[in-house]
Amino acid sequence: YPTVNVIGAGLAGSEAAWQIAEAGVPVRLYEMRPVKQTPAHHTENFAELVCSNSLRANGLTNAVGLLKEEMRRMDSVVIGAADKTAVPAGGALAVDRDTFSQEITSRIKNHPLVMVVNEEITSLPEGITVVATGPLTSEALAEAIQEYNGSEGFYFYDAAAPIIDKSTIDMDKVYLKSRYDKGEAAYLNCPMTEEEFNAFHQALVSAEVAELKAFEKEKYFEGCMPIEVMAGRGIKTMLFGPMKPVGLEDPKTGKRPYAVIQLRQDNAAASLYNIVGFQTHLKWGEQKRVFRMIPGLENAEFVRYGVMHRNSFMNSPELLKATYQSVNREDLFFAGQMTGVEGYVESAASGLVAGRNAARLAKGLAPITLPRETAMGSMAYYITHAEGKHFQPMNANFGLLPELPERIRDKRLRYEALAERALEAQTAYLK
Ligand code: FAD
Repeated sequence: YPTVNVIGAGLAGSEAAWQIAEAGVPVRLYEMRPVKQTPAHHTENFAELVCSNSLRANGLTNAVGLLKEEMRRMDSVVIGAADKTAVPAGGALAVDRDTFSQEITSRIKNHPLVMVVNEEITSLPEGITVVATGPLTSEALAEAIQEYNGSEGFYFYDAAAPIIDKSTIDMDKVYLKSRYDKGEAAYLNCPMTEEEFNAFHQALVSAEVAELKAFEKEKYFEGCMPIEVMAGRGIKTMLFGPMKPVGLEDPKTGKRPYAVIQLRQDNAAASLYNIVGFQTHLKWGEQKRVFRMIPGLENAEFVRYGVMHRNSFMNSPELLKATYQSVNREDLFFAGQMTGVEGYVESAASGLVAGRNAARLAKGLAPITLPRETAMGSMAYYITHAEGKHFQPMNANFGLLPELPERIRDKRLRYEALAERALEAQTAYLK
């Protein structure tokens, strides 16, 4: 079979390369790190997680949990590594970020059909190619893609949450608990009184933010909005978002605090914790001043401050087929965040399908499009059929799946039925 090029060894490119090689087709995997870094990556490992260490919900009553299960059933290297390197996170699948990426790197590098080339690609290669260079695609390649697609890319900033050294947290002020006591107690919770919350809110909305470059428009993923932007939307907004106290009664008093900030384990050793939902664009000195107002964090040491980064994605409804093939060139595939799927798992899932299809093309087989009833198929359908003019990146969600024939009022039962139908449709299709 001809060798397939994969550009970018992130979440999508790693998964694509794995799927192609496992199909018996040789792969040349190009990754520019460590020769050239992105503004958000810190290592040279494949599939590095640039922000949260959580791959979000794991249960089948959540669409991203269903997506993971579909991927497990298709031999996903990313979900396989995540299951193997999981850290406690209640109902979510969170990982030790270093061992997770190391596991993926070594499985791919050791595959006999994979050749890794550490090089920045600056133009679109000839031959079967999967482009998976992510939201931080290097400038030269971004220009080449823009030129090829004949349409404007979109650039905007995204935010990452600060990480704290656990040994500097005042453990007398915080308590260990998962919301509604789901799964094992996994989060450190910092409770706030109404007075503390009001003072904190005031400090947050008046703190100094880092400057944005003039040419970049402010436009955020809804799931990764800077906390100060959320706070600026209204005094109560955070109470319905990352600071919501429901299900987090303080075991010492049995009472529900006015507001709660959650800290999530960030590494297997449990020495680092991140502030859940606190992606931020505040200046570093301001982060220290304002976040030390959080009960328990008065003397916290920040091992990494929150930062803001560029993100770019293409207008897939007009440029991509549901097989992840370019509309203009059948041997050119795009995968990952740059196609408008949003999130680590979604990016990997699109890489899985693009990789399988690239391998099928190399073997002279017709490409696959998973049924719309599946989480994977519904995403591919969404990004290629949404309205091009207002196209926005999208997380996996049950709203993308076709409705059930019968109406089920209970949300949990409805999601269970959707998940069951999805897995049946996947099994039948793959047969
Ligand atoms: P990436 O994982 O970024 O992989 C792209 C790879 O291509 C990189 O390794 C890069 O070095 C390489 N590359 C780039 N250009 C070239 C080139 N020209 N030649 C060769 N190699 C190249 N999603 C979540 O689910 N949770 C989060 O908390 C989250 N936080 C995010 C925070 C930030 C700052 C950003 C930017 C995104 C975040 N996302 C998050 C969104 C998204 O899920 C991740 O960006 C995810 O890594 C996307 O996967 P990908 O494979 O498309 O890109």
